[in-house]
Amino acid sequence: MQVAIIGAGAAGCFCAAELRRRLPSAEVTVFEAGPKALAKVAVTGGGRCNLTNTFQGISRLEEAYPRGGGVVKYAFKALSPEQTFRWWEEHGVALTVQPDGCVFPESQDAMQVVRTLERLMRESGVKVLCNHRVTHIREGFLLDVQGMDEPFRADAVLLAAGGLKEDALRKLLPQEVTVTPTVPSLFTLKIPDPGLNALMGTVVPQARLELAGTAFSASGILLVTDWGISGPATLRLSSYAARELAASGYKGQVAINWLGADAAEAHAWTLQASAQQGRRQLSGYRPEGLTERLWEHLLSRAGVDRARRWAEIGREERARIENALTRDLYPISGRARFKEEFVTCGGVSLDSINPKTLESKHFPGLFFSGEVLDMDAITGGFNLQVAWSTGYSAAIGIASIPKDRPLPR
Ligand SMILES: Cc1cc2nc3c(=O)[nH]c(=O)nc-3n(C[C@H](O)[C@H](O)[C@H](O)COP(=O)(O)OP(=O)(O)OC[C@H]3O[C@@H](n4cnc5c(N)ncnc54)[C@H](O)[C@@H]3O)c2cc1C
Repeated sequence: MQVAIIGAGAAGCFCAAELRRRLPSAEVTVFEAGPKALAKVAVTGGGRCNLTNTFQGISRLEEAYPRGGGVVKYAFKALSPEQTFRWWEEHGVALTVQPDGCVFPESQDAMQVVRTLERLMRESGVKVLCNHRVTHIREGFLLDVQGMDEPFRADAVLLAAGGLKEDALRKLLPQEVTVTPTVPSLFTLKIPDPGLNALMGTVVPQARLELAGTAFSASGILLVTDWGISGPATLRLSSYAARELAASGYKGQVAINWLGADAAEAHAWTLQASAQQGRRQLSGYRPEGLTERLWEHLLSRAGVDRARRWAEIGREERARIENALTRDLYPISGRARFKEEFVTCGGVSLDSINPKTLESKHFPGLFFSGEVLDMDAITGGFNLQVAWSTGYSAAIGIASIPKDRPLPR
């Protein structure tokens, strides 16, 4: 059986490495448009490769996978995060778990992951053709490949071409395969507020963000930058609301809850401050976790004089402070790319595949894995995990094609 894998990225190479073990008779060729296999994996996690996560604190898959949770569930039945952890260790990559649940190679070197997949592919006779861009997949299957005079004929095809834009995907695929419009996910937000921008470098351990006028919210560490806000809470919000933010042209308002607490807790805090810290100035007593600079900024946003004493202020001023602490509204003027990670929301529509096997409903023998699918995750190793699991699942699917099923001709 001739198997063509389009894309020598995380999902494609994982599938290739696994496939020859499951189906030794298969001739596996990986077509890669770029000059090197696994070029993106080499730079993941800032060169350290956050290759999976323990999923601690994730109660529903949708929290980590805003799109495609249903398909992820089936992919994890084929290869769960725990099995992935063992898979890498069994193949010589010792792993380490950070306190936040992110998993990295003990070597802290993404190249170890790259070299391991390259070795496994080499040992099992997989052919990797770099600088070979596939331009169209025709029924049959016949692949048009840049640099090849004749179309490449394959009995099974895995499309694992990563986060391609909608028009590129439509050109590549037969028109029966439906594509969901693509937009970026995992970005930081630009906020043109000089007072906030001056707080550059401020880190808030447990903030909560809400996209005003929508039901989207995200919690976690918040980082204030010179252009706006960043850090895990912002990236999560950008992922959850990727489509809505794109539709609004990356304009809107974000409400920052600097305490991550609800209004009643903030109220209780100001009341106890007035009752128990009455002789102190407002600037001299602040909620835990907020820096002095941030607190002074919030007092100024609330329009109260920092030199006043806690016992002197009344209900109305306390309410303004509570509002600044838990519902501090800022305008969003655009998005900025996150330096470490950037994924595509949208892609091959999940309606056009069998979610259990990742095979096309229209074209038996055509499989999909990784970011090319309308499926993506928040940061923390969840994106690579789904690339490994869907690559593995496609290997099972290809190896299970019944021998008596007529091959596409
Ligand atoms: C800078 C950065 C850091 C990241 N860090 C992390 C991290 O630490 N942890 C994490 O979980 N996720 C991380 N991600 C996300 C993660 O890298 C991706 O989700 C993952 O690589 C997707 O795997 P994939 O195989 O689907 O696509 P890719 O790894 O992107 O591979 C797709 C391959 O297909 C090739 N290709 C495209 N079109 C064609 C064509 N027509 N013909 C032939 N080849 C083609 C591409 O050149 C590419 O090599 C990071 C992303 C970026 C950009």
